[in-house]
Amino acid sequence: MNITIIGTGYVGLVAGACLADLGNHVFCLDIDQSKIDLLNAGGVPIYEPGLKEVIERNIDAGRLTFSTNVAASVAHASVQFIAVGTPPDEDGSADLQYVLAAARNVGRHMTDNKVVVDKSTVPVGTADKVSAAIQAELNARFASASPTFSVVSNPEFLKEGAAVEDFTRPDRIVLGVAADAAGQQALAILRQLYAPFNRNHERTRVMDVKSAEFTKYAANAMLATRISFMNELANLADQVGADIELVRQGIGSDPRIGYSFLYAGTGYGGSCFPKDVQALIRTGREHGQTLRMLEAVEAVNHDQKSVLVNKVFARFGRDLSGKTFALWGLAFKPNTDDMRDAPSRVVIGALLRAGARIVAHDPVAEHEAQRVVALDLADAPALLERIEFAAKPMQAVQGADALIIVTEWKAYRSPNLAALKAAMKTPVVIDGRNLFEPDFMAAAGFQYAGIGRNTH
Ligand code: NAD
Repeated sequence: MNITIIGTGYVGLVAGACLADLGNHVFCLDIDQSKIDLLNAGGVPIYEPGLKEVIERNIDAGRLTFSTNVAASVAHASVQFIAVGTPPDEDGSADLQYVLAAARNVGRHMTDNKVVVDKSTVPVGTADKVSAAIQAELNARFASASPTFSVVSNPEFLKEGAAVEDFTRPDRIVLGVAADAAGQQALAILRQLYAPFNRNHERTRVMDVKSAEFTKYAANAMLATRISFMNELANLADQVGADIELVRQGIGSDPRIGYSFLYAGTGYGGSCFPKDVQALIRTGREHGQTLRMLEAVEAVNHDQKSVLVNKVFARFGRDLSGKTFALWGLAFKPNTDDMRDAPSRVVIGALLRAGARIVAHDPVAEHEAQRVVALDLADAPALLERIEFAAKPMQAVQGADALIIVTEWKAYRSPNLAALKAAMKTPVVIDGRNLFEPDFMAAAGFQYAGIGRNTH
């Protein structure tokens, strides 16, 4: 099948490469010329395990094309996926300007019937806006007998860091289609496209368009809720002298609760949870409903991003001049270089503003971290002189007053503790991901503080 993907970011690039891998001919469009140039030169603009190999073999097979040519992208396929960004607007609602620009482009250039698939995360009712944008362009071009189209909602549930695996082995494929004949025809085409993913068992969930749009927000809101719930309880565990890790296992063993997404930490970040929770709150407000639980989820998360900074202040005071902190992990989670809303940015900003020096390490996000930290500190660029980046974790800890673990990369899980202690000025580990057992760290001679582990 011929497929066009509009927007070649984390979602669009993974979707395009993985659909090409099934034998489809995929045209990936983007407005970012430098991104397209990089891809055409054999580079990959993001870090995602396994992605480079999938891209390379499908370029070699002639099934994957990258371009900024809008007319060619519309002509290429009768199935047009919209996978552009939906960042938060100033009021927290999803900014639909990129989605609607993509829709207008389809309407402006289409000469045959199309299935337009919203893969971006978009608020309930967006498919209607996409339809209206396409129809307005068609009305301007055709007095009568214009080509037809149907808009499908097909939200994406992949996790960064495991995106290729998630896309190729999805838990579910949600398809929101119109009840009319065009909608049912679109459904048949998408069922055919996704058939290879359903060989083991049927994963497709077919529903109306609005329910599909809502499902994506409901999923992210539920996951964010679990995280904030555990973070709030972790902070109380610290107060009452309980260990949240034991509590997590104690409740996770209940099948009604389960173990997933119950880890206490430094708050959720990334490109999805923060903006999707905000957008759902905003949708509620637009309909006169205050989503009180989600407002609390967001407030807890906001505070939790400062949990590591508060632990540093409690131990070292608020004036950190002359102190050096090693940071392990910068990306918002392991196996990605994505720094969008990463908790490390809060830690870096606060420590530098308090006078500290930072030596940071991340296996893949250093370059992106340098870019975003410079943006975060645009009001005080001189602070950037006090942050440097180490090529190896053990280089970052040389002479450090404390090691702060922000992202749970595998490479940080089993350090040589004797070497770590010898390298540091003082053996203090502030662990935002609860990678280690407090007793074990104490026995190894460390002053160790985790999250909710009764270790202050
Ligand atoms: P991204 O910012 O990485 O990529 C978006 C791309 O779209 C950019 O390369 C941008 O240049 C391009 N673009 C913007 N307007 C365009 C246009 N008119 N035509 C062509 N290209 C255009 O975003 P992302 O992380 O891939 O997210 C895309 C959507 O998928 C969002 O709605 C997001 O919420 C959703 N989503 C993301 C994830 C994730 O893990 N990142 C997971 C599920 C869903």
